[in-house]
Amino acid sequence: MDVGRDALGGAARDRARTIACAPCSGFHHAGFAYGGGFCTFNGLMVTATALLGGGARAIGILDCDMHYGDGTDDILRRLDLGERVRHFTAGAEYRRAEQAEGFLASLAERVRSMRDCDVILYQAGADPHVRDPLGGWLDDAQLQRRDEIVFRTARALDVPVAWNLAGGYQRDERGGIAPVLAIHAATARAAIAAL
Ligand SMILES: [Zn+2]
Repeated sequence: MDVGRDALGGAARDRARTIACAPCSGFHHAGFAYGGGFCTFNGLMVTATALLGGGARAIGILDCDMHYGDGTDDILRRLDLGERVRHFTAGAEYRRAEQAEGFLASLAERVRSMRDCDVILYQAGADPHVRDPLGGWLDDAQLQRRDEIVFRTARALDVPVAWNLAGGYQRDERGGIAPVLAIHAATARAAIAAL
C-alpha cells in the first residue's frame, strides 16, 4: 500500500505537470474501517485527505471503474468531506451498453463540475470494457472517447489530472493480461495526446 499511496499521492502533488499517471489502483472498495473487493486501503481517499491536509481546497474524484466506489463514499461520510471532495462514481449509475452514449454525452459536464478542484483523481478502470468478465458496457472506441473527454476537458479548464489504473479482468488465450494492458496503454496515449 505504501507504494500505491506514494505513487498516487506523488502524481497528484505534481502540479508542474498537468496530467500525471500513478500506475497503481485506487482501491475504491476499501472503506473507513474495512477492506473488501481486492482493496485493503482506499488510495483515492488517502490521496485526497493528504492533499486537503496539505492545503488543497477541494479534490475531484472521477471514478470511471465498472463498479461503485462504495468505500470512497463510506469514507466521505465518516469524515464529513462531501463538500471538499467531489465524488463521481460511474458504477453507481451505469452498467449497460445502452447507457454508454448517454454517459459519454454527460461526461464533460461531470469534469466541468470539478473545475474548482485543485486536482482531479481520474480512476480509469479497464473493467467497463464489453468483454471484461466483471464488466461490460463500453467498447474499445467508447473507452477511448471516455479518456479523451476527461483529459481534454480538464486541460481546457486547466485543472491538473492524476490518473490511475483500476479493475480489469480480461485474459488472452494464454491466460495473460494483454487485453487489460492494451486498455491502460490507450488511456496513456489519450493523456499524452491531451498535453
Ligand atoms: Zn471494478
